[in-house]
Amino acid sequence: MIPFYSINQLTSEEKSLLKNSRVLIIGAGGLGSPVAYYLTAAGIGNLGIVDSDVVDLSNLQRQILHRTSSLGVPKVESAVKRLKKINPDVKIETFNTRLSRDNVMEIIQGFDIVVDAVDNFSARYLSNDACVIQNKPLIEAGVLRFDGQVMTILPGKGPCYRCIFPSPPPANAVPTCQETGILGAVAGVIGVVQATEVIKLILNKGNPLVGKLLIFNGLNMEFITVKASRNPDCPVCGDKPFC
Ligand SMILES: [Zn+2]
Repeated sequence: MIPFYSINQLTSEEKSLLKNSRVLIIGAGGLGSPVAYYLTAAGIGNLGIVDSDVVDLSNLQRQILHRTSSLGVPKVESAVKRLKKINPDVKIETFNTRLSRDNVMEIIQGFDIVVDAVDNFSARYLSNDACVIQNKPLIEAGVLRFDGQVMTILPGKGPCYRCIFPSPPPANAVPTCQETGILGAVAGVIGVVQATEVIKLILNKGNPLVGKLLIFNGLNMEFITVKASRNPDCPVCGDKPFC
């Protein structure tokens, strides 16, 4: 037998922490897939998944939650089917909708931790702002081509996304995932980092990526960490927030 670490090596208290936690994953695509797989396999008891798209053949190289047998099916539906096969006891609340100003506050309020696994700036800023307002931990990440980045946002304890990137880039200034593509395995690397951060927060272990931006370069196979500070002029978490 090959020895390996398993969930059985956690204490009963730690297992209970995982089982009773509620984690929202915004996006069931390239990042959301590995995040959802590992959180479900780790024994997280309650997941929420937000996604308004259907399974598309062109995305399956990175959206590994889904199968060719689910083409055209809502991604949240496909995700539940797959995740229940890993852990039939996981409770999954689905939101087959696009994150918007009108629904973001209500959607995130029932969860302890939010994972940003989206592919567009508007959803990224919406989830950041809503999590800061509701004081919820947010695991933020993005991927493009061979690169990715991750940071963990604990409101009041470190910078938020807007502290580092105050406003979205102008439309068309940054190519979209569809235009430039993403190596599926890079989304896997970054999604696994996000899942690890979630589990660390729930178990209160280690040092989360708070005040640190982890940058991954897949071509050179380098991880670097850049320090980041809270911006006192941040419009969301600064000394005089606008919200
Ligand atoms: Zn901020």
